[in-house]
Amino acid sequence: MVRRDARLSLEDRPEPTRRSGQVLLETSAALVGTSADGMVVGGMAIGLIREGAGSLVPGLRAFVHPTTPCRKCHACRGGAEGLCDKAKVRGVDLDGTASTVLVAGRQDVVIVPEGVGDAAALSAAAFHALPIAVFGGMAVPRSPIALVTDIDHDLGLASAHVLAALGWQVIVVGAEPGRRAAAGAAGAAVAVDRSTFPAFSDAVLDVSEGAGAQLLVDTTGVDGVVDEALRGRAARTRLVLLGPGGDPEAGPGVTVERPVPAGATDRAGAIRFVSERGLPDVLVRPEVPVAALDGGSVDDAVDRVVSFGPGEGSPAET
Ligand SMILES: [Zn+2]
Repeated sequence: MVRRDARLSLEDRPEPTRRSGQVLLETSAALVGTSADGMVVGGMAIGLIREGAGSLVPGLRAFVHPTTPCRKCHACRGGAEGLCDKAKVRGVDLDGTASTVLVAGRQDVVIVPEGVGDAAALSAAAFHALPIAVFGGMAVPRSPIALVTDIDHDLGLASAHVLAALGWQVIVVGAEPGRRAAAGAAGAAVAVDRSTFPAFSDAVLDVSEGAGAQLLVDTTGVDGVVDEALRGRAARTRLVLLGPGGDPEAGPGVTVERPVPAGATDRAGAIRFVSERGLPDVLVRPEVPVAALDGGSVDDAVDRVVSFGPGEGSPAET
């Protein structure tokens, strides 16, 4: 485990024991950000369940939430656990996740879909930004249709899983047959092969009987892809850009979620709107570099964490 005192240090500690209602995981990746002195650092994490609870059986890979809400207050009982001000934060109120083994309450873990890499799952954009977009930023339409334009990218595939689980009819676009099959298994209604069917918005208009998609999720950052996606949009549509690194207007590696202005027919128009209004802090995340800790690179990863300083979204793995 990695502990923050005046500086970070590596320590050996006895393994924690799992209590009833908890799972014990072998950590494969942990995102290290804000932490308090004396605490094991590490917020959200990915791990393999070694000792399960209920349907969370050994062998499943799970995402560990960085906070544990009280589940008793007004906000929690109303389903707004993100607003709980008694929530315990890993690395600050509790020991964090940068340890080889950790325990977590079964309500604090989410199974990571097959085919989604640790780094993508950890960036948590799909798990956090999408529910925020769907529940916070927009009224869910009567027959919600979402288009996810690149499931060849892990974030895209994760988005398709999340949206299908949230009850959206999901149309995905991807070039790899295996990825399209994975999206289908995850609940996507239609999978389009971009290489043979570049006018993929025709499929959206078909499925929606001309109404279009109310949510567009893009992970490519490529103008032509978003332009084509906008062709199949509904009258009121929100655009979610996940990790379009290096965009000169949106910035590196940001996550953006905004309504598409009525007049926008291309990505430049949609992005300009975002720039004019300013990016909402909650949905803008720093670019996430990933440091692997296997192969004797522990010291190197600790150095990288230290170089980011406290309070920044800097990951390390154990
Ligand atoms: Zn609460």
